Amino acid sequence: MTETTAQTQVHICPKCRNILPVIKGYPTWCDRCHWNILPEEWISKPTKLSGWVDRLSLRVLSGMYQEVRKNPGLPPRWSLSLALSAVLSVLILLVTLVLTAAGLFSIYVGFYFLPALLIGAAFLLFAWLLRPRFGKTPKSPLMPAEYPQLYGLVDRVCQQVNARVDGICLHEGMAIGVSISGMRQKKMLWIGLPYWEILSKEERIAALAQALTVQSLDRFQAFLIGAGLDTLKHWRGLFNVNGAFLAMIVLWILLAPIALIEFSMHLLICRDVQRSIFLADLAAARMAGTLPAIRMLKKRGYWRIISFAMHRYKRQEADPGKVFDEIQKAVAETPQREFLRQEHIARMVAPRIDSPTPPEWMRIDLLEDQYYGKPVLTISDQEMHQIEAELEPMKAVVGSWLIFS
Ligand SMILES: [Zn+2]
Repeated sequence: MTETTAQTQVHICPKCRNILPVIKGYPTWCDRCHWNILPEEWISKPTKLSGWVDRLSLRVLSGMYQEVRKNPGLPPRWSLSLALSAVLSVLILLVTLVLTAAGLFSIYVGFYFLPALLIGAAFLLFAWLLRPRFGKTPKSPLMPAEYPQLYGLVDRVCQQVNARVDGICLHEGMAIGVSISGMRQKKMLWIGLPYWEILSKEERIAALAQALTVQSLDRFQAFLIGAGLDTLKHWRGLFNVNGAFLAMIVLWILLAPIALIEFSMHLLICRDVQRSIFLADLAAARMAGTLPAIRMLKKRGYWRIISFAMHRYKRQEADPGKVFDEIQKAVAETPQREFLRQEHIARMVAPRIDSPTPPEWMRIDLLEDQYYGKPVLTISDQEMHQIEAELEPMKAVVGSWLIFS
């Protein structure tokens, strides 16, 4: 039921009779009982399997959260679960070696017996298809000589959190993170320019400190386990084909053990991976202050607002050079009630073992629990303006990735 009062239009919640403001262009929702907080079709009914994973996740991860709360300085230890996941990774990487050896042996025999030659060739083909993956190193990071102020700031954060990076790349996403790739394990800092642009200077320091600390703590991404997981992901991708019913059954039977090993590895490493995120959040708060660190986390959720704005913008003139003005405008024009809805949605997310990060509300609760008022690292407005000037020419490039992708 919608009513119009002297000042504004309101709606009565059909579930709890709460009085709800109606804002044109945004969903009307109830902050008391969560009526209409998300479209009905977006809320998936839990299945038996998802219910089991939810209960398992809660059991495995809530203990770790309490551990970090009680002892936030505790460095991650080498655990039995990490050792087991390393063993699994070795076995995954050995598959290629065994297939190669079998292929070479069959070819050796095949000099005297033709079918063995064909079998050997098939083994080598499989070895090539299933070979270990170490991720791809980006070819064109930003040149330090062209971005001295940005590299300077990243170096300062690196020194504080005991990390290092080999280069900085830009992308069109809503995150800042570090990738480790290639045989030489190159560490690249990836800055999502739309995210960077909506952060204040303190929030930018917090985001850099968070990403760089994860990289320095995160043994999950260490050479062995990272390569094991990348290889499994690649194997799973090989099954991403459509075919006849019978062929699909055969594919599913082959895929099941791969999916099971991948799930087991996530289960083994999830506590360490998610603990690294909590510790990195605390490092971000120490570096930039608790309040900027919390705002930095909350702004990750603005991707919905930005992707709606981009969707609208694509249908208009879509000048890549003005994309970032459009993003700032979209954030500035969003009513507070819509931000509140996003916060309530974020609070509905439960911890999951198959997620690389703990839910945002847990991270914010931890930061509020361990308050840091005075930042360790600060930067002047002038220095930040110089960094913004360095990145200015890249806005049109990243803007075109955003609207033409
Ligand atoms: Zn209600």
